[in-house]
Amino acid sequence: MNQLPIRIPFVDLNLQHRPIEFELQQAIQEVLNRGDFILGKGLSDFETAFASACGTEYGVGVASGTDAIALGLQACNIGIGDEVILPANTFIATLIGVLRAGAKPILVDCHPETALIDLEAATKAITAQTKAIIPVHLYGQMVSPRQLLDLADTYKLLIFEDAAQAHLAEREGYRAGSVGIAAAFSFYPSKNLGAFGDGGMLVTRDADVVAKMRCLRNYGASQKYVHIEIGTNSRLDSLQAAVLHQKLPYLSQWNSDRLTLAQQYDLELAPLASAGIIPMENQSSTGHVYHLYVVKVKDTFPLKRQQLQDHLTAGGIQTGIHYPIPCHLQPALAYLGYQPGDFPITELLAKQILSLPIYPGLKNTQVTEIATTIKSSCIAVST
Ligand SMILES: *Cc1c(COP(=O)(O)O)cnc(C)c1O
Repeated sequence: MNQLPIRIPFVDLNLQHRPIEFELQQAIQEVLNRGDFILGKGLSDFETAFASACGTEYGVGVASGTDAIALGLQACNIGIGDEVILPANTFIATLIGVLRAGAKPILVDCHPETALIDLEAATKAITAQTKAIIPVHLYGQMVSPRQLLDLADTYKLLIFEDAAQAHLAEREGYRAGSVGIAAAFSFYPSKNLGAFGDGGMLVTRDADVVAKMRCLRNYGASQKYVHIEIGTNSRLDSLQAAVLHQKLPYLSQWNSDRLTLAQQYDLELAPLASAGIIPMENQSSTGHVYHLYVVKVKDTFPLKRQQLQDHLTAGGIQTGIHYPIPCHLQPALAYLGYQPGDFPITELLAKQILSLPIYPGLKNTQVTEIATTIKSSCIAVST
């Protein structure tokens, strides 16, 4: 098969940035003019604005989403001696955050229809040592806030949200980041709200958590040269904050563009359901912010997932897999003692899932083209 050049990339950030290039340059220029690169006005302004957009009170900008989880858990006094329940089906950073905080990660399986944490499995995993649960709002869809709050209330657990893929997502009247004691966001460039580099934020309405978090990100200093924690250096640069703040007003439009594209995919892929292409279920109506659009390629489909991916690549369409190797089977985590077969749904999904391009600026005609290329793959294989 002749490989065409990439015509539809998996992500294209230029489409998002080009229309607002001038104002982004101005925002950067203002930071240059002020010269307050670290913990400057650009940062505190953005922290307030982002926390408020999430329906909560305080934000603490840090160097990455991973740091927002690791330091955030510490700021919530979750650490040595504590068990933390989290899904096996997540990006490894969630797990790294728990380990860095010194807590013991307890992995649980996910739902096959949504890929979100299975709260029944989580309930079974609760022990006297369980201090917190980390719902990961995966692919842009929140874990049910009502069920989470019920669980946390019944068993006296803290909820710490990993909202790295769910900026402004909503479900059951709650917004991502406003459900638990605190929530971690990532501003990695391809996230729904992305910086021009790495960045992250912890949001919370707890004044004690915010004070400890500000201290931890700044060498553990409560005031200059007075160190009350063994902290680290993890601050969101004023430059990145200025870029993010400039982009923030566009975020809900960008999210609704993603939703519209997802709805089009749902419609155009529906005829392939019987053949074995099954999109992940949206259980939150218009509150899903579709960081990723993920389908399952079932065994019944005429092509293996790899073959379908190759067929799309040959047609100039880039796709992804989020994630191909579950956390519990990662080489670095073998010491935790998990085995293949421990989380059957997570392991099955890792073999079946395929992420299709979805981003603001992707055209409806391109979604049609992707759907058509998937349909044509069945024909390609039978000839
Ligand atoms: C991106 C991501 C992270 C990590 O964020 P970084 O900014 O890349 O450190 C954590 N959890 C999830 C679910 C993510 O998607």
